[in-house]
Amino acid sequence: MKAVQEIRLRFLNHGLRSYIEVDLCRECPRQDDKGCCGHYSPVFYSTDLAYLALHRPDLVDLIFSQPHLTILDASVTVNNAIDGDSYRCRFHQLEGGCVLEQENRESVCRHFVCPGIGWQQEEDLRPWRQFFELLEDYEISLNQRIAERLQSQGFTLRDPDTRLEYFEVLKKIYLEETQTLPEPILAQAAEEERCLIRTLSYGEDWELFYKLR
Ligand code: SF4
Repeated sequence: MKAVQEIRLRFLNHGLRSYIEVDLCRECPRQDDKGCCGHYSPVFYSTDLAYLALHRPDLVDLIFSQPHLTILDASVTVNNAIDGDSYRCRFHQLEGGCVLEQENRESVCRHFVCPGIGWQQEEDLRPWRQFFELLEDYEISLNQRIAERLQSQGFTLRDPDTRLEYFEVLKKIYLEETQTLPEPILAQAAEEERCLIRTLSYGEDWELFYKLR
C-alpha cells in the first residue's frame, strides 16, 4: 500500500541542543509502535551529559540506572532491549514514544529524520542541511576536546567511585568551552517550519536506514 501525505517538519536552532521535529513520527509508517527507536541504542557524550547534569540531573540518574550500559571513559551507551523479533530503545514507550523531551536527547535522536522523507534534497532547505552538518562536526570536536581535558586530569566515567567528581569537573569544562558558539551556528534562523509532500510506503517497505553507496 502507498499513500501521498503532507509531512510537517520543524527545524529548531537551539545551539548544541538543536533538533528536527517531524509530525509523521506520531503515526510512523513502520506501524510497529517504535519506528527508528526499535533499532537504536542512544549514546550520550560529554556535551549531552554536561547539559543534562546542569539542567536535568534526574535524567543523568535515569541514564545510569538503566540495565546493560556500555560505559567508556567519556560516553555512555544505553543498549536497547530485545523486543519481539527486533529491539526497542529503553527510553521508548508504547504509549507516547520517547520519554525524553527532544532537547534532552543525544544528537542522533535530535537530528535523525528517516530517509523516506529526504528533506536534505530540498534546495531551499540547504541552509539547514549546512547548519546540521556544521553542528555535527562542531559537536564531535567539542566532545573530543572535553574528553581529553577530563582524561588529562585522570577522570573516567568508568569509575563509579569518582563519578560525582567527574560530573562537577565536566560541568565546569563544558561551560568554559561553550561560552561562544561558532558564528554560522549563531547566524542561522531560530526556527523554520516546512511541509513536504511525500509518497509513503508501509511496514518494512518504509526505509529507516540510509543506503551505503
Ligand atoms: S532516546 Fe528516545 S528518540 Fe532516541 S532512540 Fe531512544 S526512544 Fe528513540
